[in-house]
Amino acid sequence: MKQAFMKAPDLVEIRETDLPVPGSDEVLIDVRACGICGSDLNAAAVQAEFAPFGHEFSGVVEAAGSAVRNVRAGDRVTVESSSFCGTCDMCRDGRPELCRNRYIFAPQYCGFAEKVIAKAGAAVPFEGISFEEAALTEPLGVALDLTETADIRLNDRVVIFGAGPIGLMAVRLARLKGAGRVTVLARSHSRARIALAERYGADRIILTDLENPVEALRGERTDRILVTTPPSTLPDAVSIASFGAVISHIGFGTPRFSGQCTLDIDRMHFKRLQLRLSFAAPALYFPRCLDMIKSGLIDVRPLITHRFPLEELGAALSACRTDREHMIKAMMVR
Ligand SMILES: [Zn+2]
Ligand SMILES: [Zn+2]
Repeated sequence: MKQAFMKAPDLVEIRETDLPVPGSDEVLIDVRACGICGSDLNAAAVQAEFAPFGHEFSGVVEAAGSAVRNVRAGDRVTVESSSFCGTCDMCRDGRPELCRNRYIFAPQYCGFAEKVIAKAGAAVPFEGISFEEAALTEPLGVALDLTETADIRLNDRVVIFGAGPIGLMAVRLARLKGAGRVTVLARSHSRARIALAERYGADRIILTDLENPVEALRGERTDRILVTTPPSTLPDAVSIASFGAVISHIGFGTPRFSGQCTLDIDRMHFKRLQLRLSFAAPALYFPRCLDMIKSGLIDVRPLITHRFPLEELGAALSACRTDREHMIKAMMVR
């Protein structure tokens, strides 16, 4: 089977590898769709040795091990990027989101391949939506975790930093949660992302390369801020936040952006701010996200702006870096 391997700087090799055989608690999946994530781009900038990648995927179960009960051959599935174990103290205490024993579906087999092996426990079946839509379940779960962490209430004024796929889905989710007003901070070159932010319900877009967002929002009430941009933007969130606001942040430092920033704690104290960090690992909410896609609560299809075959993964990676006007999400389809 064909399997993609990647290493810095932006090198992709498609290799012929042996067709894997699933163990007793594993499934073999024929991959039909796999999205490129921002974290894949970051990894492509630093990964020292060639490694497989791709964690936003869906496909059809081709074979299941003898102990597998939750799915069977022929089922359409998407796969959690990491899963809670179900047996550690945290899981048993009803806090699976704090599982200290979470597992990755199968690190040696990732979504940019013709076939993937995964732990059956990570495979979540679906029907009634396309493979492409199902491959967006994982990032939708990340956006959902971000909005749950922010605890958006009816009529809250929400500001979302960043109009990447996570920020865009957060726009729609904030609207669904009853936000009174949604403002998005984006860069002016991201034309497709800005158009989708408006379609998902943004009331106002602030172009941060043309306008200082702290100045633009001065004097306005801001109850919830969802930050999907680098940690260095958090001081702006502190400035924009109104008294008693909650700031919810997703992300970490990368080779391009430091994971460190300086925060004025006195200011946060006297404004009674809460800073909450979202980290959707283990991946929760897959059935809920699949259902929201199927019911039409969120139409994820307009996120996919670029489609490509496995063989063109390298070109697709570079398009993610260069075609900033049109790119939202690039997806391998088979
Ligand atoms: Zn991702
Ligand atoms: Zn656990």
